[in-house]
Amino acid sequence: MPIDEANSRADQTVSWLDDAAWRLAAQAAPCGLFVCNPDGIFIFVNAVFEQLTGYSADQLIGELSFESLHEPQALMSRRLEIRRPAMTTQVDSAHPLTPVGPASGTDWTYLKSDGSHVPVKLTLNRLVDEKDNTRGYVGAVFDNAGSAHEHARPWQLFYRDTLTGLPGRAWMEERLELAIERAKASGEPVLLVLIELHDLRHVRDIGGEAAVRLVVEQAARYLRNCCTKGQTLGMLQDTRFAMVCTGQTHLDAETQAALLAAASRAVQYETNILHVKASVGASAFPAAGSDVPALLQRAVMALNAARQSGGNIARHFEFDMQMQSSRRRLLETYLGTAIDASQLTLVYQPQVNLQSGHIDFAEALLRWQHPVLGAVSPAEFIPLAEELGQIDALGAWVLDEACKQAARIATKFGKSPRIGINVSPLQLRNSEFFQMVESALKLRNLPPAYLEVEITEGVLLDDTELMLDTLKRLKALGVGIAIDDFGTGYSSFSYLTRLPVNHLKIDRSLVCAMEPGSDSEPVVSAIVAMAHALSMNVTAEGVETKYQADRLRELGCDNAQGYWFSRPLSAAAFENILTPLG
Ligand code: C2E
Ligand code: CA
Ligand code: CA
Repeated sequence: MPIDEANSRADQTVSWLDDAAWRLAAQAAPCGLFVCNPDGIFIFVNAVFEQLTGYSADQLIGELSFESLHEPQALMSRRLEIRRPAMTTQVDSAHPLTPVGPASGTDWTYLKSDGSHVPVKLTLNRLVDEKDNTRGYVGAVFDNAGSAHEHARPWQLFYRDTLTGLPGRAWMEERLELAIERAKASGEPVLLVLIELHDLRHVRDIGGEAAVRLVVEQAARYLRNCCTKGQTLGMLQDTRFAMVCTGQTHLDAETQAALLAAASRAVQYETNILHVKASVGASAFPAAGSDVPALLQRAVMALNAARQSGGNIARHFEFDMQMQSSRRRLLETYLGTAIDASQLTLVYQPQVNLQSGHIDFAEALLRWQHPVLGAVSPAEFIPLAEELGQIDALGAWVLDEACKQAARIATKFGKSPRIGINVSPLQLRNSEFFQMVESALKLRNLPPAYLEVEITEGVLLDDTELMLDTLKRLKALGVGIAIDDFGTGYSSFSYLTRLPVNHLKIDRSLVCAMEPGSDSEPVVSAIVAMAHALSMNVTAEGVETKYQADRLRELGCDNAQGYWFSRPLSAAAFENILTPLG
């Protein structure tokens, strides 16, 4: 670019800075850069300058002068070196600006925001017009404490993700900002896509951080292959990728599937196969917002919605999600105190033996009654507790409460139905789970045969040695093991044969589809037959009609649970219906 043209660009200081492309370039410089107004107040700082000084751009721009960062004593004695002449005349902005100052830097000491000192090399140029009026300052700052290589490190860290080599968060945010600026001019939309790996706890259990890194690295490799022209892939956080796509508002089904498959590919780690889940959330400019923070926030909402529906799914932002997200924040705030505030109770739903009419089993279901939120469904707060790492505390409370209640019934009537508690896969991955169950039984003096753990098929997918071992020890102790919601997921009997399971619960969706002439009956019948061949007890869940109850009895199903027989009951009501049996 000819020098005049360059200068006339620089003359329009404001538009120069407003141009997102130029800002991007200055931001990406591997040394500290700043621009000040004639009073020496910052009007632009780049990322390395923020890192060097410890101040954020917000704290610097419009707030501090570049002189205020200098160590005061040195500043007093050497002020002339950087002294700025007062601005006297109004300047015609058409005149070119000339940078004036030393070509090489001088050594100074900066006072960082935390009060510490950092030696720097500062090259400061005054921007003057033809009458030598100061129009501003441009400074380049190097950290003298480190080597040249280290100067580049903060830049690297900020702009590149060190593990995957992909652009980092700062870079991606600027890329998005630039895309939005361009879109404003061209009218073309921009789509922000977030791709997150989750449920990494078992990956960590198996191989620690090394295994997690391997999973993330592989996801980065495959995701990179998914990118086409106009799409930029980067890294926002440890396990969260971002893709900025220009010229589109939606991900088509094929791309959604490709991204999910790329991110959640199984990884071989030593002798283990690691499975991860991925979710995708997307928000588009201008529909979901007109700046980077809005688009990011809404893409995160879409991502959370995808995650909450079980993962391995993509969601686009919808305005309903905003409501859901404020509810979620409320739930997050209150959930942590639910146990201590005695807001939790267990209700018990009988599983009626279809031959004898006796209640051989009952399921304990958690209830949360909050003074402000009212009754919150476990389907809503259990996944949240899992995400927030509170499921172990909640699970421990459920375990103890169920043992206490079963022990009470056993003492009162001389026996108790076997009480099933729902156990989240995360709880089973806790190496102390067996110990917790054993202690709870001992504490409440409950024979193990009166307790059962209900696990979902999801657990079967990542059956680590630890989990298998826990289940085997529980069974050996005499605790029942039930597979919950059977028939919805992979429903593989080959998995079942490997697990020490003695009770199978057929999912409500199969049961409620049972009506005259429906084709779900042969499926239910086959499940019952196979379960019996494996010596398992079978319960059908969600039995709501007489027809279903009758057909299930004819098909040989052992027990039925559902509204046709009883809704979940309070502990007291549950005891009352057991009385005649006592
Ligand atoms: P789930 O284990 O499949 O529990 C059965 C759910 O079906 C219960 O909902 C129950 O009230 C409901 N249900 C029972 N009979 C019928 C029926 O005839 N028709 C219909 N439409 N529904 C019926 P609930 O209590 O809202 O629990 C929802 C889910 O929350 C449970 O599904 C379970 O996955 C989870 N959950 C409940 N309590 C706990 C707990 O203590 N710990 C854990 N980890 N999860 C729990
Ligand atoms: Ca259950
Ligand atoms: Ca169930």
